[in-house]
Amino acid sequence: MNNDFSSTPHRRYNILTGEYVLVSPHRTKRPWQGKKESASKKEQIKHDPNCYLCAGNTRINGEVNPDYKSTFVFKNDFGALLEDSTPFSYNEGLLKAEDETGICKVICFSPNHSETLPDMEISAIENVISVWQKEYKELGTNPAINHVQIFENKGAIMGCSNPHPHGQVWAQKSIPNEVIKKTQKQQEYFDANQQSLLVDYVKQEIELNERVVFENETFVSVVPFWAVWPYEVMILPKRQIQNIALLTNAEKTDYAEQIKVVTQKYDLLFDCSFPYSSGIHQAPTDKDYNAWHFHMSFYPPLLRSATVKKFMVGYEMFGMPQRDITAEVAAQSLREL
Ligand SMILES: [Zn+2]
Repeated sequence: MNNDFSSTPHRRYNILTGEYVLVSPHRTKRPWQGKKESASKKEQIKHDPNCYLCAGNTRINGEVNPDYKSTFVFKNDFGALLEDSTPFSYNEGLLKAEDETGICKVICFSPNHSETLPDMEISAIENVISVWQKEYKELGTNPAINHVQIFENKGAIMGCSNPHPHGQVWAQKSIPNEVIKKTQKQQEYFDANQQSLLVDYVKQEIELNERVVFENETFVSVVPFWAVWPYEVMILPKRQIQNIALLTNAEKTDYAEQIKVVTQKYDLLFDCSFPYSSGIHQAPTDKDYNAWHFHMSFYPPLLRSATVKKFMVGYEMFGMPQRDITAEVAAQSLREL
């Protein structure tokens, strides 16, 4: 490893977005006098009569959840997007706006009120992936939908309003900012090299073996070279797969195992039910994208313990993201768990 990475302030380039992150490894030597509180223990009950996601319970809009046995999907009663909005376009001088339409859904991973992804059997995580595939395909073929974002907010610290393990799907007419950046960067590389950017990146990461967290036959998880969040992880397939609907059965099992291993390592890291936002970035659905290579990213806020969180403030709001602990050190901690 280049020794400068572990001692000298530097900036690292994100090949997927074209943006930089500032890394200040020398600062990890400064003394820490903050508190180290014990983690809040996670939920233990299987069914909570007051939870609007548990089976058989009534949601706020009066609908009753079915007595579901595995993964359960429903349209978000308070979705940020609506299917029917009045079309409009506003262009006045420098002011520009237009209507946005879409569909928001909630995916309960299992009927068990306390069973998070790391607690689930690999076969049960495969069921969750099957639901993601179905939603991506179904929503993606809707002519009014051009992008399908699958994500999870886990933990109250991430603003998650209900402890019942669940994820969301926001499918919409326009393509979101982050996806536009990643589409452009992957296309540029593909056009220049006739190869997926992330196929080449995976090869380099496996060869260097400095940031790999866990590898199985068809997938690998790494702390990306350009990671912003202290324990950020990216799970990606070794071959180019544009979207999750194109996974073979063997790849689906490997992907489920990656999710299980990464989230289990997270829970072990600070001995808590580890909070994060995770999301799947994959090809938009308006046309074919030959350069896209799907990947799942985890952005966890925790820095030093179950209660010490990284804040994106000050310089990071006005300049660019900054981190102290290097991606290499974070990967080593996760790998060894
Ligand atoms: Zn529940």
